[in-house]
Amino acid sequence: MRENRVWARLLGLEGAAVEGVKIDDEGQAVVAVRPHHPERDRCGVCGRRALGFDLGEGRRRWRALDLGATLAFLEADAPRVKCPEHGVVVCAVPWARHGSRFTAAFEQQVAWPAVNTSGSAVAELMRISWRSVGRICERVAVEAGRDIDLLAGLRRLPCRGGGRTDRPSGGGRLRRDRPARRGPRPAPARHRPSRRRPYR
Ligand SMILES: [Zn+2]
Repeated sequence: MRENRVWARLLGLEGAAVEGVKIDDEGQAVVAVRPHHPERDRCGVCGRRALGFDLGEGRRRWRALDLGATLAFLEADAPRVKCPEHGVVVCAVPWARHGSRFTAAFEQQVAWPAVNTSGSAVAELMRISWRSVGRICERVAVEAGRDIDLLAGLRRLPCRGGGRTDRPSGGGRLRRDRPARRGPRPAPARHRPSRRRPYR
């Protein structure tokens, strides 16, 4: 296996190729990458193919999982496309969520312990700010929520007043059984005579 493919495997890169690896002046590992051709020129919001717009703000870095005790970053161009729906946006990259300075693998690594321990402990462990932990958790939760149907498998919901809510097996809107009403419909509150005793 060629050296760059070994790096791609170590970093968990899919849909991208490694161009080179260096250690910068601060002792950090910087891995130059580029998306594979089918992954290029895609809107960062919806992921659809779009026309290229410009080169954006040039090279950009994403924090990746540490390589042993060494901080690691992916570095790549961040051009922009003009999406018919979302306008001019930075292209999507296969290794990170849109608008994030961290790789998706790094964010997954942060999100799991953040659910089980304090944000400040995770921040110290992963060597990021406390605020970054919160933003990462938001992004991961939003993405996870898209893949989860919170009503999957639900057949019936208890409903106030003794009714129930059934979910049709073929999907569609929930149908609510109204509780049987006994007696005439009560008058709206503003027309109802007051039963309170007058104030003395
Ligand atoms: Zn779009």
